[in-house]
Amino acid sequence: MSDAMVPFFDGHNDTLLLLHERAAGPRPFLDGTGGHLDLPLVRRGGLAAGFFAVFIPNDPAQPAAAAGELPAPLELGHAQQVTHAMIAMLQRIERTAPGAVRVVRTVAELDAARDAAALAAVLHLEGADAIDESLNALEVYHQAGVRSLGIVWSRPNRFGNGVPFRFPHDPDIGAGLSDAGKALVRACNELGIVIDLSHLNAAGFRDVVAHSQAPLVATHSNVHAICPSPRNLTAWQLDAIRDSGGMVGVNLHVGFLRPDGLRTSETPLDVVVDHFVALVEHLGIGHVGLGSDFDGALMPAELADAGRLQALAQALRRRGFTDTDVRRLAYDNWRDVLIRTWR
Ligand code: ZN
Repeated sequence: MSDAMVPFFDGHNDTLLLLHERAAGPRPFLDGTGGHLDLPLVRRGGLAAGFFAVFIPNDPAQPAAAAGELPAPLELGHAQQVTHAMIAMLQRIERTAPGAVRVVRTVAELDAARDAAALAAVLHLEGADAIDESLNALEVYHQAGVRSLGIVWSRPNRFGNGVPFRFPHDPDIGAGLSDAGKALVRACNELGIVIDLSHLNAAGFRDVVAHSQAPLVATHSNVHAICPSPRNLTAWQLDAIRDSGGMVGVNLHVGFLRPDGLRTSETPLDVVVDHFVALVEHLGIGHVGLGSDFDGALMPAELADAGRLQALAQALRRRGFTDTDVRRLAYDNWRDVLIRTWR
């Protein structure tokens, strides 16, 4: 990374899923995957740190959900098998690329990775489908390095309910957290694991607000007032995040950016900046960052992959953010919320 580059900390990618599905081991991450995020693109774009999601696809053995409806819950054993494969993938990447990638578990490790110019990877579970009601797996995954967890993806599980992909729609769909879900929130607080609100429905979100002591974080969601997807955050949700000293990562998926919800890469970079501006107005400059969804979604052409992240820094400057503001939005705010959450 050259000195002129703004380092980025990204709140969400699905690169482990891409590597898992390709079934070619960790090597493509080092050499280039042809996707949105790999080591050559990390260096070109100035990506310094990122949340690497473990996302379990819907079980092909289950009947597919109708459009706009939630898929069936996953069976625990299946969910654990896929989760272990993806955690192992990240650990193999770290071992295969000595010094280039580090899985970080503390802010001290995050800072050490940055000083050593290594990519810092935060292990994230996108949905707690692989965790049993007794939370035994949570303890094991925490020891394996998991430091961030979404209670649900857009799918029900034993802890709560996600939002289906409907447009336009409000996130107020379905019931809140189960008792096990509330216990999961308390356990994450105790272990210092980030609780990610992206994909959670409104009733579940309210339960997290009521039961969590930690800053409220949505790693990869946008502003519902601009793009009325149930994946985006309404005014009361943003109020709750603000009041908790929390954080939102701006998602680059065009369907969560555009006012019309259309899935086309011909989406101007300025629409991304519109979400940054609205979030900064609502939450303050210290509570907004990036949550790209690289390798998991359709990007605007100007931000087609992680190699183009400096174009986002330039677009933010063009809209009046100072260099200091841009550095906060690009990196520092994620670090700050982890200081307030990890232990
Ligand atoms: Zn997601």
